[in-house]
Amino acid sequence: MSRPRGRLFIDFIFPKKCVGCGKFGEYFCSKCFSKIEYVENPVCPVCQRQAVGGRTHPKCQTRYSLDGLVVACRYRNPVKVAIQKVKYRWVYDIEKVLVDLLATQIYKFAIPQKVILVPVPLHKKRKNWRGFNQAEILAKDLSKKFKVNYSEILIRSRETKTQVGLKRDERKENVRGAFELRRGADVSGRNVILVDDVYTSGATMAECAKVLKKSGAKSVWGMAVALG
Ligand SMILES: [Zn+2]
Ligand SMILES: [Zn+2]
Repeated sequence: MSRPRGRLFIDFIFPKKCVGCGKFGEYFCSKCFSKIEYVENPVCPVCQRQAVGGRTHPKCQTRYSLDGLVVACRYRNPVKVAIQKVKYRWVYDIEKVLVDLLATQIYKFAIPQKVILVPVPLHKKRKNWRGFNQAEILAKDLSKKFKVNYSEILIRSRETKTQVGLKRDERKENVRGAFELRRGADVSGRNVILVDDVYTSGATMAECAKVLKKSGAKSVWGMAVALG
C-alpha cells in the first residue's frame, strides 16, 4: 500500500518508538513483542472459561447473548499501553499494529462466514470531545484487512459513565438500554461482529448483542484486541 501524503512528515515529527521500552524504530521492538501475552485458548464470552473456537458454551447461551468471542491477547503491557495510546491518539497509526496482532490469532476462532463489522459506539458527546471512536478506527482497519463489510449501525443513545472501577453488576446496570439500532438499519439474518479495543466484563457488548438480536441478527460475535 502506498504511504498516505504527509506520512513522511509525521514520521519525522513523531518517529516510531517502542511502546514497551521507548526504543526508536517500531511500535513493538522484538524484545517487547515477545512479551505479549496471547490468549492461548479461546474463551466463552459469558463465563470467560475455555471454549472451543471461542464459541459461547451451550449452557451459557441465552436468547440474546453473544455467540462467541475473538480476543488476541491479555490486557497487559506492552499491549495495554499501545491500546491506551490509540485511545488518546498520541501515536499515529498504531492501531494497525493491533489489527495485525488480531490477524495473527484469528485462525483459532470459529467465526461465521459473511460477517459485518460493527464498532461499539460512543455517545455523540463523548466522541465529539475525544474527536474519534477508537473502536471505529479498529473496526475500519479490520474490515479493510479482511475485506469484510463495515457499518456503524449501532448508536449509544444514552450517556453512560465509564465502566472502569465498576463491579460486574454495576457495569450491566450502567449500560442497560444505552444502545439503539440506527434508524433505517437492517440486521435481519446478518452475522454481526462487534468490535472494541478491550473486552472486560462483556457487559457493553452483551447489551449491544441484545439490541442486534432483538432486531433480527442471526448471530453476534464480539471481537477485541485484548481481554481485560
Ligand atoms: Zn521495546
Ligand atoms: Zn461459558
